[in-house]
Amino acid sequence: MSNQLDSFATEVDGWIQENCPQSMRTSMPVSEQVWASSEIKFPTADSKSWFDAMVSKGWCTPEWPVEYGGGGLSFEEAKILRSRLKFFGCRPAQINFGISMLGPVILEFGTDDQKKEFLPKISRGEIWWCQGFSEPGAGSDLANVSTSAKLKGDDYIISGSKIWTSEANKADWMYCLVRTAKTEKKQAGISFILLNLKQPNIEIKPIKLLSGQSPFCQVFFDDVVAKESHRIANENEGWKVAKRLLEFERTMMADLGSEGAVDIEPIKTFKNTDALNAPGQKKLHKKIIKHELRNHLIDLTMARTGIESKSGFSPAALTLKYISTEETQARWELNVASLGAGGLEIVEKSHGQKQEIAKSFFYSKAYTIAGGSSEVQLNIIAKHILGLPT
Ligand SMILES: Cc1cc2nc3c(=O)[nH]c(=O)nc-3n(C[C@H](O)[C@H](O)[C@H](O)COP(=O)(O)OP(=O)(O)OC[C@H]3O[C@@H](n4cnc5c(N)ncnc54)[C@H](O)[C@@H]3O)c2cc1C
Repeated sequence: MSNQLDSFATEVDGWIQENCPQSMRTSMPVSEQVWASSEIKFPTADSKSWFDAMVSKGWCTPEWPVEYGGGGLSFEEAKILRSRLKFFGCRPAQINFGISMLGPVILEFGTDDQKKEFLPKISRGEIWWCQGFSEPGAGSDLANVSTSAKLKGDDYIISGSKIWTSEANKADWMYCLVRTAKTEKKQAGISFILLNLKQPNIEIKPIKLLSGQSPFCQVFFDDVVAKESHRIANENEGWKVAKRLLEFERTMMADLGSEGAVDIEPIKTFKNTDALNAPGQKKLHKKIIKHELRNHLIDLTMARTGIESKSGFSPAALTLKYISTEETQARWELNVASLGAGGLEIVEKSHGQKQEIAKSFFYSKAYTIAGGSSEVQLNIIAKHILGLPT
């Protein structure tokens, strides 16, 4: 590391010590997550002071230009900042799809006006964004989207339905894929549009899951209005924007910890049970050790690809998303197994750590589907990384 970067790392360490409250350096339960929103809520005074400190420094979006609410850091400096925040175990100051997914594509494909209108608000956590890609007839085959957008004057009139839209019932805005032309090549008739959800003719129905939670919804549009000036990239060129955004989504999903996902080490759960000498426990112990080794390997590979990548994105994200989400699923299975017989409880009837484990066990089943299923990731890896014939 150069002297300059060295002294930046020292400066960051000092700043964290001064500004990150101790309670913000602990693992974060779901109930203490801070979601960016027009009605942002802070579960504790410390979470507000940590959020304020990070936002005023522009460090929620460290490499974005200062004029858009960013920290104006170089790519190298931003990497150092992230690694120091990780080292001190700092919680993410806010959870915001605008930062992890949408902002980077606005920076790459947006107009100056779009950057000025949206990026500072995203950086300050003022908008809850949801992602309107999947539809009842378009999941893995995303290019099949049929929600239509017809230009009328300066507005698009949108009709159709989106499904599995995470947190749509709480969101302010949606970035979505719409069909603006019926073309032979399905990808060539899709546009990427920013849509204000606070308007009439939108119905949002939460979908209840096995875990008891309702983190996603089906959304119905009946002649809903979006400004033409809120289309990112040219009309019918939304597919390239969507593909880039999915790269950011998969990079994020490969490192769910940095997004504040709950984590419990199976080895700790295992050691806390009183059935250590029960039959089969030695086998379970071995499985946990093997899992921890694989987990460390994933962390190391993630760190290496981060260092090697020059732009914040590496094609390795696809491989890492696949391996990392499969391993996370295994992690929760091992936690449940470590609790012994009767370990998996009904979420609503459970308490404390057992409840966290039950919730995360059920929710982890979604990680290998959301952001593109494991099977689809394997297809992409086979075709685009290994160059295998299709
Ligand atoms: C927790 C969660 C949150 C989500 N949040 C959002 C969101 O906010 N916004 C949004 O737009 N979407 C969201 N999704 C939807 C997600 O992107 C889709 O579920 C996913 O892309 C799969 O699409 P599908 O459900 O239609 O399944 P399908 O595409 O119907 O697939 C069904 C099964 O077939 C397999 N399959 C399909 N095609 C192939 C193939 N070519 N080769 C091999 N196997 C194949 C799949 O792997 C899967 O197992 C979310 C999903 C989950 C689970």
